[in-house]
Amino acid sequence: MVRLREVEASAQNRRFAVELADGATVEAVLYRGDSLCVSSQVGCAVGCPFCASGAEGLTRPLTLEELTGQVEAARALAPGLRRVTVSGVGEPLHTRALEPFLHWCRGERLAPSVTTSGGPIPRLRALLHAPHNGVTVSVHAGTASVRREAVPQGPPLDDLFAALAEELPRLSRSRQRKVALAYLMVAGLNDAPAELDAFTARAVALGARVHLYAYNPVPTSAHRPVERDAYEAAYARLRGAGLKVAMSSSARVEDNGGCGTLVAIRRAR
Ligand code: SF4
Repeated sequence: MVRLREVEASAQNRRFAVELADGATVEAVLYRGDSLCVSSQVGCAVGCPFCASGAEGLTRPLTLEELTGQVEAARALAPGLRRVTVSGVGEPLHTRALEPFLHWCRGERLAPSVTTSGGPIPRLRALLHAPHNGVTVSVHAGTASVRREAVPQGPPLDDLFAALAEELPRLSRSRQRKVALAYLMVAGLNDAPAELDAFTARAVALGARVHLYAYNPVPTSAHRPVERDAYEAAYARLRGAGLKVAMSSSARVEDNGGCGTLVAIRRAR
């Protein structure tokens, strides 16, 4: 049993606390009335230092019923729902219910996409061939050392790119276009030009599209966003190297829609 409680709303987004039967709470966001971002775990074990969702570590993964329950509860409020993205609290590949959930979404005529830090690698490989409408791999680094800092419990950078380089050619052209890399710019962490250039070289070799995200600060982290000028300069730098790059949409730039800002609250004992 899943209950949605609206906690914040703007002209574009509605943000919900997702109350689970055991008393734990995660979050979901409805973007523009037709796209729902759902959570896959209570907390997260990956430990990205800029992220509120994993600030207290992992409590447990969500069940299939808890994943579908978020969608069904949101659809009662937004009958125009067309897309679902597993990009909220948690690492989707640490949730065994992910693949059955993707099949369930397809059966419900909802286009499902996933954002993942990429590990475990065997599950990433399987996901790329699963019935998704998009996979975004959160990279956030161009060198191994910054990757370890930005995504501490995610797969190492070389392993991640080696797996992608093997799997992408096995996909059809149209499926390859549904795979993208994400780079969340965080001041002082990964915004140095040399780091961006190292990431760019890897992304160009892979031929992958890139989502370049602006960071929204959260109270659980001392990390800061980059200035708008630096963000736009990075966009131009990546584009100039020949990459197809998308910036954060206005819906995701809002405080209630940004990457890493959703929260998981443990059950009070
Ligand atoms: S950004 Fe994603 S993978 Fe990293 S700690 Fe947060 S929820 Fe987990």
